[in-house]
Amino acid sequence: MSQIIDQAEELRKQAIALLLAERQSIDRTLALLGYDGVSPAAPVKPKTCAVCGSPEHNARFHKKKRIEASAISPA
Ligand SMILES: [Zn+2]
Repeated sequence: MSQIIDQAEELRKQAIALLLAERQSIDRTLALLGYDGVSPAAPVKPKTCAVCGSPEHNARFHKKKRIEASAISPA
């Protein structure tokens, strides 16, 4: 019984070794293709206001506000 478990453990180790070798090969190929291991998806850019840095709105908010303000105040 223990011999079967030993064999199973040996097979598991072999499978892991094979997969690791395959992964190394894949990593090398990816590196050759210029892949640096970073996710190809663009990093999530926090949308913050370019004028004041607030995450509540964007720079358009200020533009709009200025237009509204100039429309209200008699020039
Ligand atoms: Zn702002």
